Amino acid sequence: MKTPMALSEFSIIERYFTAQSHRKDVLLGVGDDAALLQVPVGMQLAVSVDTLVAGRHFPENTAPRAIGYKTLAVSLSDMAAMGAEPAWATLAITLPESDPDFVGAFAEGLFVLANQYGVELVGGDTVRGPLSTTLQLQGLVPDGVALLRNGARPGDHIFVTGSLGDAGAGLALRQGSTCADEGAADYLVSRLDYPVPRVEEGKTLRGIASAAIDISDGLLSDLGHIIERSGCSAELELDRLPCSQALRHCVGDGEALKLALTAGDDYELCFTVPEARLDRFTEVSADWPARPSYVGRIVAGNGIRLVGESADALQGLAGGFDHFRE
Ligand code: ADP
Ligand code: MG
Repeated sequence: MKTPMALSEFSIIERYFTAQSHRKDVLLGVGDDAALLQVPVGMQLAVSVDTLVAGRHFPENTAPRAIGYKTLAVSLSDMAAMGAEPAWATLAITLPESDPDFVGAFAEGLFVLANQYGVELVGGDTVRGPLSTTLQLQGLVPDGVALLRNGARPGDHIFVTGSLGDAGAGLALRQGSTCADEGAADYLVSRLDYPVPRVEEGKTLRGIASAAIDISDGLLSDLGHIIERSGCSAELELDRLPCSQALRHCVGDGEALKLALTAGDDYELCFTVPEARLDRFTEVSADWPARPSYVGRIVAGNGIRLVGESADALQGLAGGFDHFRE
């Protein structure tokens, strides 16, 4: 039996976790034993779940609003990587105490994103214990067009959205590193706390990208998943990796490159586009808020090969992510 949140469990739910916006396809939301949701004909359900544990997935000193935001943001990023339209969320939250300030700020961070992406919170569970959150997100994608990890083929071009390595530097700053440029430091920490899920970008990649993944563990690791599942290899051009000014400024060019390859938590998309679809890709990506960057090619073989001036020095990092190694 689990320990319920003292007396205030129901008031917490009612006060903070009642949906703020309503979707027509929610027949029954928070308040009954289960939610009832209508999946439209011709659509498939994309389902993901992620748990964030204090001290492990976010530093203990993270602002409650950022914890709420990130709890939903990481799942929205999974939907983006599938090309799915986010729709319904359930939230299981474990709280050390029923502190209204904490829960209020957490809920505010969560609903900012939920409202922005038209997601309705349709249920959950609220219990007492060490701080952790688990959010299940369900999204909709037309039959047969979801973006998978296994479709990359030799010759495909590899792209990423936004910039890489920022959140990794933000985490180091949270943990005590310093940067003389305060504006740059604030930017990097905001990239850690408030990642922008690339949901619209993911949707426009339907029928264009041959494979896609969101970068939660670092480019080498996540691109590693694509090539492993697709049975091929990748060549990454180090000069092409998008690093922000703020990142270069705070950690220097060499370290920036290392973070861009290995640091997680950026929640950008990495995807592959076959040559024949490049024109269409250029067209649909023209009005993305952040320019996608070409970073390399899919080739035959296995493992990831780095190309560029500092390739020799950094190839060891890629070796660690060779999923085919004996
Ligand atoms: P049950 O005992 O039937 O599981 P609960 O008492 O756990 O019901 O929850 C009551 C209602 O509140 C349910 O509809 C549940 O989905 C919803 N709920 C509980 N916690 C949350 C939460 N953190 N966010 C959203 N809905 C919640
Ligand atoms: Mg329950």
